[in-house]
Amino acid sequence: MLKIGIIGGGFSGTMTAVQLISKTDIPLSITIINEKETLNKGFAYSPYSKKHILNVITEKMSAFPDKPHDFLDWVMHRNDFSTLDRTFIANSFLPRSLYGEYLVSIWENAKIVAREKGVDIVVIDDSAVDLDVNKNNVEVTLKNDIKIIFDHCVITTGNQVPRNPTIANMDFYNSKNYFQNPWSKESVLNIDNSLPVLIIGNGLSMVDTVFGLLENGFKNKIYSISPNGFNILTHRHHGLKYLKLEEEIQENMSLYDIVKLIHKHIKIVREYGVSAEPVIDSIRPYTQKIWKRLSDTEKKIFMSRYRHLWGVARHRIPIHSHDKIQQLRINDILLIKSGIISNFTEIKPNKILVEYFDKKEKEKKEFEVSRIINCTGPESNLSLLENSFLKNCLLKGILKQDSLNLGIVTDTVTFQVLDRYNNRHMNLFTMGSNLKGELWESTAVSELRLQAQKLAQFILSNIKNL
Ligand SMILES: Cc1cc2nc3c(=O)[nH]c(=O)nc-3n(C[C@H](O)[C@H](O)[C@H](O)COP(=O)(O)OP(=O)(O)OC[C@H]3O[C@@H](n4cnc5c(N)ncnc54)[C@H](O)[C@@H]3O)c2cc1C
Repeated sequence: MLKIGIIGGGFSGTMTAVQLISKTDIPLSITIINEKETLNKGFAYSPYSKKHILNVITEKMSAFPDKPHDFLDWVMHRNDFSTLDRTFIANSFLPRSLYGEYLVSIWENAKIVAREKGVDIVVIDDSAVDLDVNKNNVEVTLKNDIKIIFDHCVITTGNQVPRNPTIANMDFYNSKNYFQNPWSKESVLNIDNSLPVLIIGNGLSMVDTVFGLLENGFKNKIYSISPNGFNILTHRHHGLKYLKLEEEIQENMSLYDIVKLIHKHIKIVREYGVSAEPVIDSIRPYTQKIWKRLSDTEKKIFMSRYRHLWGVARHRIPIHSHDKIQQLRINDILLIKSGIISNFTEIKPNKILVEYFDKKEKEKKEFEVSRIINCTGPESNLSLLENSFLKNCLLKGILKQDSLNLGIVTDTVTFQVLDRYNNRHMNLFTMGSNLKGELWESTAVSELRLQAQKLAQFILSNIKNL
């Protein structure tokens, strides 16, 4: 029986396995390697709070590209939602924990189908630490030193913990008052209320962490420092479609022309009292194609000038979360600063001195906090990862990074990984956020569900051609 290994069992790994089970007409053995707590859910859908909600409406969160209402249907079949209006729920933002339950239910159903089809399912509660590619198979080494051989192997390792910002005293990061993983509940528990807390970063995880701190009884001020201190945006016009920009987008447009086009249309919609949101959303179906066509120089310009702006425009929060954040800012509980952090020093066991350059006030500033939580977003530079698995593969030349260090160089049609010398591995695949360098937008469910389907189809057709 052919053995397929999947390293990482979050949304991407689970849905690849589900698609393989659903589409195969031959017996297979599928092994998912993932630590138990995040199986099926990953970090995103195993949140520690019910207040951590999806940033996409229910209607758009189906796990299947060809069953667009699957999540909505699943929700409406639950007793706790059955009395609510379907259109209302379709347009609402539900807890991410509920989405995690949805993924678990998909997985449980897939296991039943697997039994019927003679597909063997193995789930290993461990991490992969190393990998070797042989002529006809892939050998994966687990943390407990066991080695497993697969005919085909898929890397779906997803979101990695954020990078530690460069400061004068890098040893600080060993402090028990520093939390590098903002998605773990420990980051908001047992906090000393006598001093403020600092959140590094100003995006969606910052919002989750603020709600997590308050929910767990934190009573002092919360600082957030990021290079730009942009205002986090809300979904103001979801459902409103703007089609004019699409009519003008052309193949081979330069980055300069695209930025000009976006500005032109933002100016138009603003004249009608509408924000930039529908314009940004209208470009979404084209972002992967646009990104692939940009030159390396244009990609570098995008990363240095527009990346943060794009992130803010794309990653918006539901209006009631936005209202809460605004109220906390008005009440001087949440203080969002634009600045560059220079150092953290632990001056007493629960007292950290934060030094930074405040961009608005154009001067060096400092304040004291009891805890620092890193919400700067998932790390994508493989050579800097804490998790040594991909770093080991990189060092051995089994895979290579793109020129911007955003992910793994991969054929985006077949999902086959390329080695250091640009040779394509016939039996090693990846998808999801590892394709950020190739596609830029390769993180949300809307992209990943399609990749999982295409990847499963490719692997199965590959097996048939063997
Ligand atoms: C906090 C947060 C909220 C989000 N909210 C939304 C949302 O509302 N809507 C949306 O569309 N998208 C959202 N996203 C984007 C999200 O990344 C995707 O929707 C999706 O969860 C990514 O799934 P994944 O399987 O690719 O990665 P992950 O969910 O990160 O899963 C990867 C899995 O691989 C495991 N793993 C990693 N390394 C190894 C190893 N060496 N060995 C074994 N296992 C390993 C990890 O433990 C994890 O379980 C959110 C992301 C985050 C971080």
